[in-house]
Amino acid sequence: MSETIDKYEIVIVGGGPGGMTAGLYCARANRPTALLEKYLPGGQIANTDVVDDYPGFEMVGGQELAEKMANHARKFGLEFLTDEVTDIWCEGDDQMVSTASGKTYRAKVVILSPGGTANKLGVPGEDELYGRGVTYCALCDGAFFKGQVIAVVGGGDAAVEEAAFLTKYGSKVYIIHRRDEFRAQKVVQARTLANPKIEVIWDTVVEKVNGEKKLESVTIRNVKTGETRDLEIGGLFPLIGFTPNSDITREKMEKDGGGHIITNDRMETSIPGIYACGDVRSQL
Ligand code: NAP
Repeated sequence: MSETIDKYEIVIVGGGPGGMTAGLYCARANRPTALLEKYLPGGQIANTDVVDDYPGFEMVGGQELAEKMANHARKFGLEFLTDEVTDIWCEGDDQMVSTASGKTYRAKVVILSPGGTANKLGVPGEDELYGRGVTYCALCDGAFFKGQVIAVVGGGDAAVEEAAFLTKYGSKVYIIHRRDEFRAQKVVQARTLANPKIEVIWDTVVEKVNGEKKLESVTIRNVKTGETRDLEIGGLFPLIGFTPNSDITREKMEKDGGGHIITNDRMETSIPGIYACGDVRSQL
């Protein structure tokens, strides 16, 4: 039988910056609060090499910033619990949260901040070669590709910024982008494009990921000319955005077309007692 824990008034689901900020304020207001996170605290920011746009920090490592946030929240009494949330539901006025370790938390309030999951290209070979050349985290896996040719896919901040980070390891880093301009911030673009190890392949999509036991090449197609060719690479980093992890609760709540949870300006979802913040929340 699962153990039910009811000592927390507030349970936060997800330990990225959104969840940690919520936790900091709840704990500071003397509300007994637990934050459930399956990995180390930090979320996507912990997968970022360097952050140069967080007020008060001109330049700070993503992991370092995550640790600072966690320690700050801990100082006010936020309890970080390492566990994976498997279900969330309502019982009367209470919110219930169950976890993979067999615990169930009963709380007055649940704050959802589960972020998102990296999008895949959805092309043949991608799943088969995942972990054998294909990866979605530059900071975690970049060092495995020392001296190799790397390709990053995408044109947002993550792709353009992490491509520059990967030049620390790769002999050359291609950025394969489906359009002829990036959506990444101009300052990020300027920094990356000035790097001599970077080459952008514009107007191009990846059609196939090739390799027997490990990644050998990708088949790419120019969307304007239709020309296809194989590009030999040792590492492939599709950094093409995230899908919100908004299916974490069995309760039906209002979402936007992209699956992000809709809240009001008090972060209340359509279910009383359940709030949402961070990347899972609709920005529309
Ligand atoms: P994003 O901004 O949504 O960009 C995704 C990129 O991937 C876009 O360039 C998109 O192309 C491309 N793309 C999407 N689906 C694709 C597909 N199936 N095949 C090929 N390309 C595809 O995602 P992100 O870069 O992960 O950033 C997410 C959020 O985090 C953003 O708000 C971003 O500003 C933020 N972020 C900020 C920083 C920073 O401030 N330092 C760093 C990282 C992330 P199109 O442009 O053609 O749509």
